[in-house]
Amino acid sequence: MRGAVMYGLGDVRVEDRDDPRIVQPTDAVIRLSATCVCGSDLWPYRGLDTVSWPMPMGHEYVGIVQEVGSEVQHIRPGQFVVGSFFASDNTCEICQAGYQSSCVHREGVGEEGAQAELLRVPLADGTLVATPDVPADDLIPSFLAASDVLGTGWFGAVAAEVGPGKTVAVVGDGAVGLLAVLAAKQLGAEQIIAMSRHEPRQRLAREYGATDIVQERGEDGVAKIKELTGGLGAHSVVEAVGTQESMLQAIRATRPGGHVGYVGVAHGVELPGEELFFSHVHLHGGPAPVRRFLPELIELIWNRRIDPGKVFDLELPLEQAAAGYQAMDQRRAIKVLLHP
Ligand SMILES: [Zn+2]
Repeated sequence: MRGAVMYGLGDVRVEDRDDPRIVQPTDAVIRLSATCVCGSDLWPYRGLDTVSWPMPMGHEYVGIVQEVGSEVQHIRPGQFVVGSFFASDNTCEICQAGYQSSCVHREGVGEEGAQAELLRVPLADGTLVATPDVPADDLIPSFLAASDVLGTGWFGAVAAEVGPGKTVAVVGDGAVGLLAVLAAKQLGAEQIIAMSRHEPRQRLAREYGATDIVQERGEDGVAKIKELTGGLGAHSVVEAVGTQESMLQAIRATRPGGHVGYVGVAHGVELPGEELFFSHVHLHGGPAPVRRFLPELIELIWNRRIDPGKVFDLELPLEQAAAGYQAMDQRRAIKVLLHP
């Protein structure tokens, strides 16, 4: 099969790789209908993560089940499935509590690379969710979004305790931030403030339900949010970047008693204990348990109630993965879908 491999800073190549096979009897192998480049793929691309090259890339996937291991009972060949970047049994106590991304049997999916034609998914019965039937082509980008960015934005909103009548601010205008706006709208938020200084992203944020756009960052951004919320700060803030600046911006934009849902992968974030102590702000977040939300998200997409696939503003053949990385790195694209 063909698959994308990162060889060093800014160096992504698509090359011949071994077809994945069933290794454990609980595995499935799926033929990908679509895959994509994640904002988190840009960290190693820019040299901000320590990794060992060469590294197969990609962890977002949807596709048709091609083969299942002997112990897989529910997932069947021919089904169209969506899964998350962590495999989970979906039966342990942690999974039952809704934290499948910390499953006691959790395994990374995509360590062999999901930006490829085929992918092995461990713990298939617990990890994969089948759609009611093979979907129409125009729904595939939205199901692909559910594999990570939608589920992550949704978790950010849930972790920030978004609900009816609440004011929500979203820090970060990447795909996760934009889909946190969509989630906040679906969860009934009254006022949704998107922080963005990029016009195309502001437009999509408004389409997804943002009522206000704040262009300022840092302390100015915090001041602007206070101004929009009667001087109090937002009830709920979703942090979808993962830097020191964005995390402090999120905490400081939250009113006492409010909640921050942080889903940007933290890079060098250090929390000031004393400030946190006196803030009365709840913090909750981490790698999103996307699996918790998949049945609900699949239903919303299948019934065309939400259109998260709009975050893909560039589609390329898998062979041009390198161009996709460049477009995202240079912020010419919000998110790039790759056709295997
Ligand atoms: Zn589990």
